[in-house]
Amino acid sequence: MEKLQPVRGTRDLIGEDQRRHTQVIDTARRIAALYGFEEWTTPIFEDTRVFSRGLGDTSDVVSKEMYSFTDRGGDSLTLRPENTAGVCRALVSNGLAQANLPRKVFYAGPMFRYERPQKGRYRQFHQIGCEILGAAEPLADAEVIACGWHIQQALGMTEGVVLEVNTLGDAESRDAYREALVAHFSAHATALSADSQVRLAKNPLRILDSKDEGDRKIVATAPDIHPYLTASAAAFYAAVTGYLTAFAVPWRENPRIVRGLDYYSHTAFEFVTDRLGAQGTVMAGGRYDGLVEEMGGPATPSVGWAAGVERLSMLLPEAPPAPRPVAVIPVTEAQEPQALAALRLLRSAGIAAEIGYKGNMKRRMERANRIGARAAVILGEDEVAAGNAQLKDLTTGEQMLVPLAELAALLR
Ligand code: ATP
Ligand code: MG
Repeated sequence: MEKLQPVRGTRDLIGEDQRRHTQVIDTARRIAALYGFEEWTTPIFEDTRVFSRGLGDTSDVVSKEMYSFTDRGGDSLTLRPENTAGVCRALVSNGLAQANLPRKVFYAGPMFRYERPQKGRYRQFHQIGCEILGAAEPLADAEVIACGWHIQQALGMTEGVVLEVNTLGDAESRDAYREALVAHFSAHATALSADSQVRLAKNPLRILDSKDEGDRKIVATAPDIHPYLTASAAAFYAAVTGYLTAFAVPWRENPRIVRGLDYYSHTAFEFVTDRLGAQGTVMAGGRYDGLVEEMGGPATPSVGWAAGVERLSMLLPEAPPAPRPVAVIPVTEAQEPQALAALRLLRSAGIAAEIGYKGNMKRRMERANRIGARAAVILGEDEVAAGNAQLKDLTTGEQMLVPLAELAALLR
């Protein structure tokens, strides 16, 4: 039969890749808990309307990248391209939108986007994320960012990573800014890419995010939002950045940052690096004050971020080492019962232990070395009769006779 391959843009996580992946998620989960985030798991597919709300959607994610399909019952479903919408939908569907706000939610899991696969960009990828739901205060923006920075510090990967912050202001600021952008981009309309000409009509802010070379030149001379901010939007931004400094999170302003999805306001930020080539954004987020309402809930100002696990994994300074178990080796078949007893004893004591299923003593020693065992517990007839075992350190080659009763303590 023809050999089947993984689908384009998907990959298997095996060995070192899986260990990096696990390390990123475990670390993020641990640090997020320190900040009071509780973990939620929402479904991988949702009603398409959770992600796509009417014709106003101009983001690439919604307009071009979604994996949507009609299921056998005729419903339009979508593999989630991100988890913020699912978390907001869950807040509303579980009747949690009314009380006990703010809620701080952490999540981790696979996301799906139909994109051109390249290094750091896949069709199935994974995100970790933190959301603070139901907090309008700038301290929430700063705290969620501080948590993201802390996770990166705990992963030892902050070298060359910079936090860039911007504000998208409130509705009034954005209306004034949009007018200024339309004036600027209209003057260059014919030089814009086809995509950006569409954006000019629908959502000119999105042109700032364009990756097209020609567009980038026109973006370079576009006005910044800051002169168009209302006094309260400017005060909000000043408070967020002030709190960032108080949390000891280094940041710099980048007036070109807008978010890929349409429901953001005020704070927008990205952690970027030049260590990943074109896929330089590691963690990205912002404030979204209208999303829970769009899911049928009450007004619930919220802020959060998502980070690509594959990109974080690539930035880990080194892969976590493979586990090194203890190999239990019966010298002949007659010692198998004692070997199984030793195996049980070690595992109950929390020590990883392995046994080969077949082979003579030599074969079993070879296997112990092949799997990277740190020690071999060798059980021969004489040792077993005296309640002992030979304990061989496979790094140094040293060997000693030890009472079985002391084995676990010696190996811990
Ligand atoms: P990009 O500009 O790289 O396309 P984005 O703005 O689409 O990113 P977000 O929707 O903000 O990304 O997602 C947050 C993070 O998820 C990104 O910063 C990145 O680390 C990761 N990410 C997004 N899309 C992919 C993908 N296709 N493959 C791997 N990681 C991804
Ligand atoms: Mg994208």
